[in-house]
Amino acid sequence: MKKITILGASGSIGRSAIAFLRMHRDKFSLDAVGFGSDWESAATIVEEFGCSAVSFADEPAAKAFRASGRAGACEVLGGAAAAAELAARPVDTVLAAISGSAGFPSVLAAIEAGNRLALANKEALVCGGPQLLGRAKERGATVVPIDSEHSAIFQCYLAGRPHEVAKILLTASGGPFRTWSKEAIRKATPAEALRHPNWSMGPKITLDSATLANKGLELIETAYYFGVDENRIEVLINTTSLLHSAVHYVDGTLIAMLGAADMRNAIGYGLTWPERLPTGVDLIDLGRIGRLEFEYVDDERFPCLGLARTALHAGQGGTMMYNAANEVAGRLFMTGAIGFTDIAAVIDKCLATDTSRFASALEDVVAADGEAKAFARSIAERHIAEAA
Ligand code: NDP
Ligand code: MG
Repeated sequence: MKKITILGASGSIGRSAIAFLRMHRDKFSLDAVGFGSDWESAATIVEEFGCSAVSFADEPAAKAFRASGRAGACEVLGGAAAAAELAARPVDTVLAAISGSAGFPSVLAAIEAGNRLALANKEALVCGGPQLLGRAKERGATVVPIDSEHSAIFQCYLAGRPHEVAKILLTASGGPFRTWSKEAIRKATPAEALRHPNWSMGPKITLDSATLANKGLELIETAYYFGVDENRIEVLINTTSLLHSAVHYVDGTLIAMLGAADMRNAIGYGLTWPERLPTGVDLIDLGRIGRLEFEYVDDERFPCLGLARTALHAGQGGTMMYNAANEVAGRLFMTGAIGFTDIAAVIDKCLATDTSRFASALEDVVAADGEAKAFARSIAERHIAEAA
């Protein structure tokens, strides 16, 4: 039996992971689960899996869960440090599926403890930079990517040696506004941005898919995880979301990974690697699908992708700023304070400053992320005032 901890268990990735564990109750036990505030989901999961511990970032939610009488023998932790406390406890795999840089402390804690990490929380890697993986190496913590593209690239890397890789092909769906005009995109509403054509995901990543900031974060994730320069990472839209990414080798071979647009595939692989188990995802029928369609990304309509390249050139302070500006501007868009194209404008303005001041040691990432977000808010306020 492999012991698993899932942080972000009520989210889109967390729920898919739990569905996978439910299929293989003889092979996995769900030892601990972490949440923001959703204690009712926690109660259902704890009752079903008999978890030993649960955490809530939100202290009142922890109190409400204790008071509900549904915790049984399960230990209940609450507060900002609770998820990191769970991540540090020895298990076979910690699945990091909290959304945004809020997941960083628990990712670092899992690594420090030498736990095997199944990493969905890309923002943690974007903030921590290459030093996060350096620390994982020192601590003997294996990090397996869960993001579908990175899971695909990871699998394509098994076909050759790292020094034989010529280029990485990172694919994108193009999001809901792929065919929209620049003017229509400018007027896009939060409801329209949350209508993804191919994937069902949490709200933050769905918005990021509409701006292509998600592909920007993934470009940075690819550069850091696989240790390649951004100029060796090509991004193409695969409108059908079937080709999850690929690797070009120096001999002209292109190794690609294909599968249905269903995260259970990458989640299952991340939890079972180097083995495979059924995930409940159907085999794809290429004859019925007929064609795989590719397009280039239009940088003019979707500037967030190119801005990620700028951020990478600026180093870890730059990628920290990219993530912070995107989180801040994304929230402002969702509350109606700024328009859709202002998200890229705010990121652009933030990156036009000296971002090296946000470069930080792993121990200081939380503080630097807070400073980068405060700076992004000040830039956004000025941007709003200028537009008025
Ligand atoms: P969701 O918004 O669906 O879920 C987020 C989860 O994190 C919830 O369980 C939430 O708990 C919890 N949470 C939020 N804030 C905190 C906090 N401060 N401390 C502890 N827990 C918290 O997100 P997704 O599942 O969509 O995404 C999770 C991560 O996986 C992201 O980094 C995303 O980029 C990545 N990813 C997601 C994919 C997808 O298909 N969804 C695909 C590839 C990557 P509560 O419900 O209580 O608020
Ligand atoms: Mg992805």
